[in-house]
Amino acid sequence: MLTTRFAPSPTGYLHIGGLRTALYSYLWARKNSGRFLLRIEDTDLKRNSKEAAAAIEEAFKWVGLSHDDEIVYQSERFDLYKKYIQKLLDEKKAYYCYMSREELDALRAEQQAKKERPRYDGRYRDFNGTPPEGVEPVVRIKAPTEGTITFEDGIKGEISFKAEDILDDFIIARADGTPTYNFVVAIDDALMGITDVIRGDDHLSNTPKQIVVYQALGFDLPKFYHVPMILNPNGKKLSKRDGAMDVMEYKRMGYLPEALLNFLVRLGWSHGDQEIFSFQEMLELFDPKDINKSASAYNAEKLLWLNAHYIKNASYERLISELQEFGVNIADHDKKEILVDALRDRAKTLVEFAEMAKAIIHAPQHYDEKAVKKFINNEAIEILQKYAAYIKIYEDTLHIPVDFEKATKAFMEKHALKMKQLAQPVRIAMVGSSVSPSVYDVLSIVGRDEVVERIEKFVKTLLHDDTKSF
Ligand code: GLU
Repeated sequence: MLTTRFAPSPTGYLHIGGLRTALYSYLWARKNSGRFLLRIEDTDLKRNSKEAAAAIEEAFKWVGLSHDDEIVYQSERFDLYKKYIQKLLDEKKAYYCYMSREELDALRAEQQAKKERPRYDGRYRDFNGTPPEGVEPVVRIKAPTEGTITFEDGIKGEISFKAEDILDDFIIARADGTPTYNFVVAIDDALMGITDVIRGDDHLSNTPKQIVVYQALGFDLPKFYHVPMILNPNGKKLSKRDGAMDVMEYKRMGYLPEALLNFLVRLGWSHGDQEIFSFQEMLELFDPKDINKSASAYNAEKLLWLNAHYIKNASYERLISELQEFGVNIADHDKKEILVDALRDRAKTLVEFAEMAKAIIHAPQHYDEKAVKKFINNEAIEILQKYAAYIKIYEDTLHIPVDFEKATKAFMEKHALKMKQLAQPVRIAMVGSSVSPSVYDVLSIVGRDEVVERIEKFVKTLLHDDTKSF
């Protein structure tokens, strides 16, 4: 069965490069009705792997990815790795090397002086003598000394490494018995039944070493896909400042998970010139053979654009529940749908959405000075007073609930006013600034009583502010 995996080292959070690799692996597995496994590469025991696993699970949950089976922790498999080290020793495919640190340093210095690639020279490969005293040996695997290691990369095509250029008998177990990175990755991928390894191309140079391990143990090779890196717009490695941060930080910044996934799937993969992909479409269309061969550039504007798209098209229930996380609780507001519709086209993030919503829901605490200067004079104050008085008695006079558009138009006609004479002062009274969605929407969300209250409060503030003359 096609099986992929995501194999992060425990850094304590999941960053977007990792999420992209996980997404590709997930899509490829699910599309093929296969399995997607999670393995925490925590052989470096100093890092807290449970915390890392929890962080990954939290991020997976947020974006809606799920893995099969229990999480595999490398730190719990040392006995298993030992068994395979012993097997290779028994089969003479690996051996103890007793070189001391000083000898290794001397060898390296000699090679550097000759401008050769620093490498182990194989001096214990066929050693039969008595081991030197006082040296805890490492275990080295017998790597091919000549020929090439070739494999077909699902993205990059045929990849060949000359054995003499990159391989030597590398260490598979350190002097303290702990296994090394490339050794355990190969064992785990083989034992977990991984058929398709999708990972960043920063791991490309590890692959020949892992292939040596596969071959020594007689395991079938998986298919490898090495995904080019995500770079910043200047073509450099993506830093935290550019966006290489904790996936959950995107949540806090007000991104919808579907926008982030859509952004990531396109960051390195394409299907014609389509930009918007629902999760279902990703599942149907994703194929790692279409992953770009060159690195992709992180584009913050595009992520915002996608987020705006998904906000615009989200259901009321969805947005109302998302907004709760940002301190906006409108579930019981009688005009919640008008509010959502008034803002969904304007907000690029949920943070912006929440800010704009708060500005409408809560009476302003202060009024934008520039806007006041520009739009308020004695005539405007008079218009506001009249308008408030008119709205206050509208329902009682006409015996119908106020329809702000109709009522306001009638008011303007009666007093021969133009829209701009009324709209901007009313906006400032409602939200504290001259920027807001349609003034009729704002008025109807705020509601009759509060409209009157906000205008009266604004007028009062203006009249008591004797530092300004109007
Ligand atoms: N643990 C490695 C990393 O976090 C990934 C190893 C792999 O995918 O083979 O970069």
